[in-house]
Amino acid sequence: MSGGRAIRELQRIIESLAASDGAGVRLRRSLGQSPYTRLDPFLMLDEFSSFDANDYIAGFPAHPHRGFETVTYLLDGHMLHEDHLGNRGDLKSGAVQWMSAGRGIIHSEMPQQEQGRMRGFQLWINLPAREKMKPAGYRDIDPGEIPVIELPGGGRAKLIAGALVLQERSIAGPIQGLTTDPLYVDVELPAGAAFVQALPSERNAFVYAFEGSASIGSAAAARSLATHSAGVLGPGDLIEVRAGAEGARFLLLAGKPLNEPIVQHGPFVMNTREEIEQAIRDYQSGELTKVAG
Ligand code: MN
Repeated sequence: MSGGRAIRELQRIIESLAASDGAGVRLRRSLGQSPYTRLDPFLMLDEFSSFDANDYIAGFPAHPHRGFETVTYLLDGHMLHEDHLGNRGDLKSGAVQWMSAGRGIIHSEMPQQEQGRMRGFQLWINLPAREKMKPAGYRDIDPGEIPVIELPGGGRAKLIAGALVLQERSIAGPIQGLTTDPLYVDVELPAGAAFVQALPSERNAFVYAFEGSASIGSAAAARSLATHSAGVLGPGDLIEVRAGAEGARFLLLAGKPLNEPIVQHGPFVMNTREEIEQAIRDYQSGELTKVAG
């Protein structure tokens, strides 16, 4: 330790834009609107939230992926995932599905409700070149497997991936051991409370505010982050997020950058143009989903 305890300031704000994906699901996209709004290793973050079934009922019928991971965190609602390997995952409120597409998956993600609120997130995390062609795999995480941590200054954190250190105690989430070492936390703070966590700059990090408002950074340089915006953190050793007058709820995401070239074509994310062309050929021929022998 050098003894440095610099607070990471809010460096860049990526406002979400209205978008539509799947068979017409309305959503808000922050990261991933363009190649210039990624934060290595994070490729995309979508928030979907609606009480109107017309906005979500069409769902995401069968579609392929190759070369990265998709993480679905359902806050409200009921979604069924099915894939070509015969996996079936029934996602209920508070559950997470962590899917590593690897060399290829064809799956559907379909709402199982016709009324009420559907709300949640889909995050895309890149895989390193040497893992892009590994066999597909996924894990459904029940809400009961996600630690809910009472924060010393008020509020709580749900820890989906990585570890938090609070009052010298380390707490681990259910997802561990990935090359990008992701931290995925859902934090809820009452008005005026602060969330402080050591998070050195070797991991890229951003905050996505989805309820209330938050201010990020040191007291002298704190900037506010509006709801439905992603705030990218600058270099430093720790993060400090403070809730505004209505409190705040936000995702905190961090991961080790891969520093590899990215070539994306829709649901395929590889390192070269040739690998993308191969992915398209493999999808068309059925090779994408053949189990590697
Ligand atoms: Mn998908």
